[in-house]
Amino acid sequence: MALKFRGFDLVEFDTLLSEDEQLVRSTARQFVEDNLLPIIEICNREGRFPRELVAPLGELGFFGPTLEGYGCAGMSNVEYGLIMQELERGDSGLRSFCSVQSSLVMYPIYTFGSEEQKTRWLEPMARGTKLGCFGLTEPDAGSNPGAMRTRAASTADGYVLNGEKMWITSGSIADVAVVWAKSDEHGGKVRGFLVETDRPGFRAEDVHGKWSLRASVTSSLSLSDVKIPKENLLPRTEGLKSALMCLNQARYGIAWGVLGAAMACYDTALQYAQFRKQFRDQPIAGHQLVQEKLVWMASEISKAQLLALQVGRLKDQGKAQHFHISLAKRNNVWMALECARMARDILGANGIADEYPVFRHLANLESVKTYEGTHDIHTLILGAAITGIDAF
Ligand SMILES: Cc1cc2nc3c(=O)[nH]c(=O)nc-3n(C[C@H](O)[C@H](O)[C@H](O)COP(=O)(O)OP(=O)(O)OC[C@H]3O[C@@H](n4cnc5c(N)ncnc54)[C@H](O)[C@@H]3O)c2cc1C
Repeated sequence: MALKFRGFDLVEFDTLLSEDEQLVRSTARQFVEDNLLPIIEICNREGRFPRELVAPLGELGFFGPTLEGYGCAGMSNVEYGLIMQELERGDSGLRSFCSVQSSLVMYPIYTFGSEEQKTRWLEPMARGTKLGCFGLTEPDAGSNPGAMRTRAASTADGYVLNGEKMWITSGSIADVAVVWAKSDEHGGKVRGFLVETDRPGFRAEDVHGKWSLRASVTSSLSLSDVKIPKENLLPRTEGLKSALMCLNQARYGIAWGVLGAAMACYDTALQYAQFRKQFRDQPIAGHQLVQEKLVWMASEISKAQLLALQVGRLKDQGKAQHFHISLAKRNNVWMALECARMARDILGANGIADEYPVFRHLANLESVKTYEGTHDIHTLILGAAITGIDAF
C-alpha cells in the first residue's frame, strides 16, 4: 500500500527556516514525489540507476548548488542540505549520485582547478550533460587512503597514471574521474588529477551483487598507463588534505540526507501502526512498546534535524570545522539506521517487502554508514578533536 509522506516537524523546525529555504525544500520534495517515488522500487529491484532524472535535476540547479557562477545556483549550505534530505527521502542512491557530482567532482574542480578546467567542466556538469566520479578508495586503502598505491609518473608533456580504485560511485557512467594519486613530480605527495574516462588504459567495471544502493552505480576503476596532459593536474591540490576537504563537503550533505531516509521510515511506521490492528481490535500504535519505538524515532530525528541545521548555519558563516561535520555525519547516520531498523520491526512481515520503502532505506543506510568515513573512523576523528590525542 503506497503511503503518502506527511512531512515531519515536532519542534516547529520550520520556523528556523527562511522562506527561500522552505521553497527549495518543497521544490525538491515535489520532484521526488512526482519523479522518483513512482519508479524507485523497480529501479531497486532491477539494480538500475534512474539516469532519466539527471537532466531534470540539472534544470532545477541541484548539481553544485552552492557554487557561484559557471551556471551554478549559488544556494546556501542549508538549502543544499534540504535538497539532500528530500532526495534521500526518495532513495540514498540518487542522493549519493548528487553528492558525488556536486561535492566530490564539481567542488574540487571549483576549489582546486584552473580557470580553463572550471570553464570546461562546471557548466555542463551543472546541467547534468557531463557526469563525474571521485576515485580515492582502493582495494587495499579504504579508511586509510594514505596507503594508496595509485601513482602519477611525470613525462615531458604530462603524467602517466597507474593504479586501481574500488567502490567508486558513478564510475562507469562518468565522463571525467577525479583521481587521487601519489605524484613523483611532487615528492610522492597525493595530488588530484582529472582523467577523461575515454582515455586509452582507463576501464570502469560495475560491482554486481550489491544488497545496498542498488539504484546507484558503483564501479571499480583500473588505470593502466593512462596518459594525461599537464593541464589535467588540479593545480591547487596539496596532499591528502585536499581530498579530505572534498569528503567534508559530501559528509555534510550526508548528515542532512539521512534525515530524509529516517523521516520516510518513521512516517511509514507511524501510518502503518495507526491502521494495523492486533489484539482487541486495537491499532498497534496503541501498544506501549510500539509507542516507545515511535517516540524514540521522533525524538532522535528532531535532535538530528537541529544538529544538521546548526552545522549548516556554521558552514554558511564559514565557521564549520571538520569535527562538527564528523559529529553530524556519525550521529545522523546512526540515528537513521536505528530508525530504519525500528520501522522494519513495526511493520512486521510487511517490513521485509518492497511494497514499503523501509527495508530499501535500511539496506542503503548500511552503505552510508561505511562510506565517507565509517562510523568508527568518525568516532576517532571526534576523539582526537576532544582529547587532542590521535588514536588511529
Ligand atoms: C556503495 C559505496 C559507494 C562508495 N563510493 C565511493 C566513491 O565514490 N569514491 C571513493 O573513493 N570511495 C567510495 N566508497 C568507499 C568507501 O569510502 C570505503 O568503503 C570506506 O572508506 C571504508 O573503507 P573499506 O570499505 O576499505 O573498509 P576498511 O577501511 O577496511 O574498514 C573495515 C572496518 O574496520 C574499521 N577500521 C578501519 N581502521 C580502523 C581504525 N584505525 N580503528 C578502528 N576501526 C577501524 C572500519 O571502521 C570498518 O568497520 C564507497 C563505498 C560504498 C560501499
